[in-house]
Amino acid sequence: MAKTALITGITGQDGYYLSHFLLERGYRVVGLVSPQRQPNLAKLGSLANLVEIYTVDLRDPQALLTAVEQLLPQEIYNLAAPSFVPDSWKDPLGTLDLITGTATRLLDAVRQVGLSTRFYQASSSEMFGDVDCSPQDEETPFRPKNPYAAAKMHAHWTMVHHRQRYGLFACSGILYNHESPLRAPQFVTRKISLAAASIKLGLAKTLEMGNLDAKRDWGFAGDYVEAMWRMLQVDEPEEYVIGTGYLHSVRELVATAFECAGLEWTKYVVINTELLRADEHFQLVANPTKAKTKLGWQPQVSFKQLIEKMVQTDLELLQNGKIAPVASLINHS
Ligand code: NAP
Repeated sequence: MAKTALITGITGQDGYYLSHFLLERGYRVVGLVSPQRQPNLAKLGSLANLVEIYTVDLRDPQALLTAVEQLLPQEIYNLAAPSFVPDSWKDPLGTLDLITGTATRLLDAVRQVGLSTRFYQASSSEMFGDVDCSPQDEETPFRPKNPYAAAKMHAHWTMVHHRQRYGLFACSGILYNHESPLRAPQFVTRKISLAAASIKLGLAKTLEMGNLDAKRDWGFAGDYVEAMWRMLQVDEPEEYVIGTGYLHSVRELVATAFECAGLEWTKYVVINTELLRADEHFQLVANPTKAKTKLGWQPQVSFKQLIEKMVQTDLELLQNGKIAPVASLINHS
C-alpha cells in the first residue's frame, strides 16, 4: 500500500519539490492547508491534480489531531513558515505561533494518536545566528538573531523534547539557503535572476544592490528535499546540517546571473547605500559531513547550474508574460 505523507507549507518552494519527489516514489501526498491560505493553492499549478488537499487550521490543535487520526500518515513534513526573515520583525508573535505552535500541535497529535509516524521539522541555519566559528555542524550552539530564528529554534527543541520524552521518530534538517526558480522574489537570488532576465529583455535598466561582498552557502531546493526524505528513512531520528559547504559572494551571484543572460553586470548594477548591511565576521556555511556519511546525501546541482536554471526560467516566464519584471519588485539586498 502507498505510504501517506502529510506536508504543511505545500504551496511553498520546498513543498513543491518535495511533493514531486514523493509522488515519484509512489507516495500519497496530502497538503495540510489553512482555510485562509486557500487562494494560494493556485501556486500548485499542475501539481494540484496529483496531490490531495486537506483543509485544516494549523492553529487549531483539535483539528490537527482529527487530521492525523483520519489520514494516518507514515510521514509528516512540517514546512509551513513565513520564511522571509525580515518579515518576522513585523509580527514576532504570529511568527512564533505559526512556526513553534504548528510543530508542537502536530507532534502532540502524533503522540496522542499513538502512531509510529516519522516527523520532519524544517529547521534553519538562521538558528546559528551570531556564529563564532565557521563552518557550522550539528554541535554548533544556536544564537538566533531575529524572531524567525528564535521561533525555529523553539520548534527545533520542541521536536527534540518529543523525541526524548515520548520516543517519537522526530528529526530536523538544519538547512542553509536553498533556491530554485520557485523562490519568492523578495529573496536575493530571485531578485537577481529576475533583474538579469528583465534587463536582457529590455524591461528594466538597472539593478539596485547593497553589499556585494556578503557571502552565503546557496544550494538547490530539489537536492535539499531529498535530504529531508532521507532523514526519515534511516533507523535513528537525528539532526542534520544540510548545505553545500561552499560560500559564494553576492558579487559572484550577480556576475553569474548576468553572464547567463549574456550581459556584463558592471554596466547595470547600482549600489544603493540604504541597502548596505554590516559584514559578518564569521560566515554561515555548512559542514554537511554527517549528512554525507550517514544519509549518503550530497548536492547534485552546482551554484552555476542553479543560477542558470533560475535565469533561464525567468527569461521564459517574462517572455510569456507570466511574471512581472524586476522593476516592480521591492528591493532587498
Ligand atoms: P516558502 O516558499 O516561503 O513556503 C512557505 C510555506 O509556508 C508556504 O506554503 C506558505 O503558504 C506557508 N505559510 C506561510 N505563512 C503561513 C501562515 N501564516 N499560515 C499557514 N501557512 C503559511 O518557504 P520554503 O523555501 O519552501 O521553505 C520551507 C521551510 O523550510 C520553511 O519552514 C522555511 O522556514 C524553512 N527553511 C527554508 C530555507 C530556504 O532557504 N528556503 C532554509 C532553511 C529553512 P502560502 O503559499 O499560503 O504563503
